[in-house]
Amino acid sequence: MAERLAEDLWRLDIPLVGNPLKNLNSYLLTGERSLLIDTGFRQQSCREAMERQLAETHVDRDRLDIFCTHLHSDHTGLAPELIRPGCRIYIGEIDSPGVKNASDPSCWKRLYGEYVRDGFTQAEMEALWGDNPAQTAAPPWREGLYTELQDGAALHYGGRMLRCVLTPGHTPGHLCLYDPARRRLFCGDHVLFHITPNICRWQGVEDSLGDYLSSLDRTAALDTAELYPAHRAETGDLRQRTAELKAHHARRLEDTLRTVEKAPGLTAYQIAGRMRWSIRCRNWADFPLAQKFFAVGEALAHLDHLEAQRRVFRQEIHGKRVYFAGVGDKI
Ligand SMILES: [Zn+2]
Repeated sequence: MAERLAEDLWRLDIPLVGNPLKNLNSYLLTGERSLLIDTGFRQQSCREAMERQLAETHVDRDRLDIFCTHLHSDHTGLAPELIRPGCRIYIGEIDSPGVKNASDPSCWKRLYGEYVRDGFTQAEMEALWGDNPAQTAAPPWREGLYTELQDGAALHYGGRMLRCVLTPGHTPGHLCLYDPARRRLFCGDHVLFHITPNICRWQGVEDSLGDYLSSLDRTAALDTAELYPAHRAETGDLRQRTAELKAHHARRLEDTLRTVEKAPGLTAYQIAGRMRWSIRCRNWADFPLAQKFFAVGEALAHLDHLEAQRRVFRQEIHGKRVYFAGVGDKI
């Protein structure tokens, strides 16, 4: 059921069936024109929940724009089918090409090829093919469908101004929406409670984790009383959560470095297999393949950050990238 959080604000609870994230919080700001923030996957269970809860709010669908905090398909998937003529779908200009790429099989092929170099077997990547919701539940793309926004852009809804805050890390072009008058921050997947936002390596980005840590500093400096994350019902204090997230990554960096020091010459896949994960599995071999994909991406983000700090280096040996502690020749 749609939950009314304030006179002008609703939370729609969209289930993500079979996904460890469990749900998506879609926020609806109502006014003369209304704004829906994030949508859920392009899947029937999300579609039904969204349609039912939008009806409960009695929002005028012909005056409803959509804001996607970032390119992930649990945030963008339903946008093209929900939007009516004359209404807009907003997304950050850096993430926008990623929406196009998500519906292009050749981009996935290239990415999966990279993951083989980082230690996955070809068979694992083939098994993942077509089973990854980022691939299958992504929204269709067509020219002119999305309106791109830059850092600092202002949107006006119901007499209030919302400022886009570029927060790269979780994705290269993630945007939060900040309402300074009400001291509200819609933070997408930038800050989550109970779970930690996934930070992984992105092609074309040198140090996603470094970007993420800087973005955390950027949002912590905002005067914020209300924080609206995109997953789970929990929320809380932004500065306290920022400190916890930074401490989490500092521990992960040490864990990653110790693994490289103890066993030099491993791939990111093997390093991820020796790191500690909160997922309930007996061992690395039992990890569901999709979770392995995220775990290796996250290990890579930590390795990239350690590399930027000149604490590890990598070499390519027999077509696999392997890591060593210390300073070496960058490939
Ligand atoms: Zn996300």
